[in-house]
Amino acid sequence: MSNIALPFKRYTITSALPYANGPLHIGHLAGAYIPADIYVRFLRLNNKDVVYVCGSDEHGAAITIKAKKEGTTPQAIIDKYHAQIKLSFEQFGISFDIYHRTSEKIHHELSQEFFLNLYEKGEFIEQVTEQYYDEEYHQFLADRYITGTCPNCKSEGAYGDQCEKCGTSLNPTDLINPISTLSGKPPVLRETRHWYLPLDKYQPWLEEWLLEGKKEVLKPNVYGQCRSWLKSGLQPRSMTRDLDWGVDVPLEEAKGKKLYVWLDAPIGYISATKQWALDTGNDWEKYWKKQINPADDACLIHFIGKDNIVFHCITFPSILHAHGEYILPENVPANEFLNLEGDKLSTSRNHAVWLHEYLDEFPGKQDELRYVLTSILPETSDSEFTWKDFQARVNNELVAIFGNFINRVLVLSHKYFGGKVMETSQLTDTDRFIFSELERYPKHIAGSVTQFRFREALAQFMNVARLGNKYLADSEPWKLVKTDEERVKSVLNVSLQIAANLAIMARPFLPHTAQRMFAMLNFEAAGWQQAGRHDLLPAGHQLGEAQLLFEKITDEQVDAQLAKLSKAKETNARAAKTVPEAKPNISFEEFVRMDIRVGKILAAEKVAKTKKLLKLTIDTGIDRRTVVSGIAEFFAPEEVVGKQVAILVNLEPREIKGIVSQGMILMAEDKDGRLDFVVPQTEVQSGSTIR
Ligand SMILES: [Zn+2]
Repeated sequence: MSNIALPFKRYTITSALPYANGPLHIGHLAGAYIPADIYVRFLRLNNKDVVYVCGSDEHGAAITIKAKKEGTTPQAIIDKYHAQIKLSFEQFGISFDIYHRTSEKIHHELSQEFFLNLYEKGEFIEQVTEQYYDEEYHQFLADRYITGTCPNCKSEGAYGDQCEKCGTSLNPTDLINPISTLSGKPPVLRETRHWYLPLDKYQPWLEEWLLEGKKEVLKPNVYGQCRSWLKSGLQPRSMTRDLDWGVDVPLEEAKGKKLYVWLDAPIGYISATKQWALDTGNDWEKYWKKQINPADDACLIHFIGKDNIVFHCITFPSILHAHGEYILPENVPANEFLNLEGDKLSTSRNHAVWLHEYLDEFPGKQDELRYVLTSILPETSDSEFTWKDFQARVNNELVAIFGNFINRVLVLSHKYFGGKVMETSQLTDTDRFIFSELERYPKHIAGSVTQFRFREALAQFMNVARLGNKYLADSEPWKLVKTDEERVKSVLNVSLQIAANLAIMARPFLPHTAQRMFAMLNFEAAGWQQAGRHDLLPAGHQLGEAQLLFEKITDEQVDAQLAKLSKAKETNARAAKTVPEAKPNISFEEFVRMDIRVGKILAAEKVAKTKKLLKLTIDTGIDRRTVVSGIAEFFAPEEVVGKQVAILVNLEPREIKGIVSQGMILMAEDKDGRLDFVVPQTEVQSGSTIR
């Protein structure tokens, strides 16, 4: 396997640091973690020197806002979610060498070191400017503390540092109609001093390094975004903030100020590597710093979602470049977004499949989710997860093809030959075709993985399983065993070689399944270079016990998940409802034309064959009359008798369900459609006017 395109000796792989302000959902996994994990596992299988780092991003306004919302401290928020996120990653087999956190001292120190390095070189522009300030909360408003309309794409809800819709990075003063997310009010301007990174100064360098140097390397979606930002011209960006949570700016004159979270967060990759090196006795600088001989430099790859492209392709490389001692990213294979059941994934609307809930509901089925997410990764455009598709892929592919093949080979081998691999006597043309296919596939899969085309890689992997399943089904050893046992030995041998190859090639994609297959085959592969061979299991080799690898997802399971999502939608719709907008003004004359009186309900009965209607007999003070009222869902007839009500008596009579209704009872209706009577505070004479 010499043609695998892995030209570097050493690899530094990062996945985007998740914000420690909420649990993880499938969109996170599909964005920056499953692709990176497949890549890293593949590198390790090829015996590459690789470090894979990640950690919780524990600074930034998202954390402090969450703490305010939950009535607790930022520290309590990050402790809770860091532990939860870390556990989810472990459970899904995301194989970080370290999962660190940016609240650690080693990270604060390294971030300050970076800031001082650039400060002492005179890279920053120090500037007093007018910034938005919330007078009610006594706080400057940056990043997520301020929202408004994006000046670029005109969508609402853009944040002070970025529009998540179009990905453009912003300054708070760029926003149209800015609003404080603390008080909900328009902010005022106040003077404050900050330190700006002169991105405009680095623009010529970025054009050369990125636009010219990475044209053939970056994915088209990533390259296109970078080109459009550079085309519109970069502006200096403030690297400091007036906040009380984050890394202190290490300057006397900046007391009380913090580093911008997108300055310190990517440095989190480096501090995580530093901590890992301390823990394991490694040298972190080999993975991050330029080496004396450039050929010894590590290959740095950032796996992220598309909302982070600007920070990983423009800001962070500019910081690394200005510092000078560090390597630059080789590639930034950003994914687009994953949608769920026709709608955007949303934490605030609870429209998500949460990883911790998934594992409660589908225990032990991590690889099933990894499989389905890998087959629909949003590599080139947004993609969609639906539970029906999840069920179809698990049942029709994992269970019916892959799992079925592995189970059949093992069960038959145990049944006919005591679980021993038998000699092949004579190879047929079909056998030879299978062997040549086995040789071909690992190269194709490797080619796809090294080009970050993981969907394609997984599809090829499934083709190997299909090949095996078809070979076994066509060969029909269960019939053949009565007439030609020698041929059955060969068929099962060939099938077992396919199974062993599948076990090796499953490792990057389905790590838990691969482990179980190795146990079933009683075999462990040294690495990817063994894939493609057809003598992995020698004659006489004793197999382990057969187990079912996958089981079907039932309709009930799918229905339960869909019901859960629609319940969240309902809850959300209720919360989102507000009181109706004001109607246009009317004149006093128009108002006094309405004759509204206090009346008393004398009798009430349900209107037959209706749910909502009560027939009421009302003493209006003027007369006794019949009114049909739509209140039966909220009041039983016996409850309302004797109640005083407000009644519009000069409404044109109307026939409702065959009853002539003479007037209308006035009711209060809340945003959820609940009704209540409008009544005087103390009992008044029937016929009293209301105006
Ligand atoms: Zn925008």
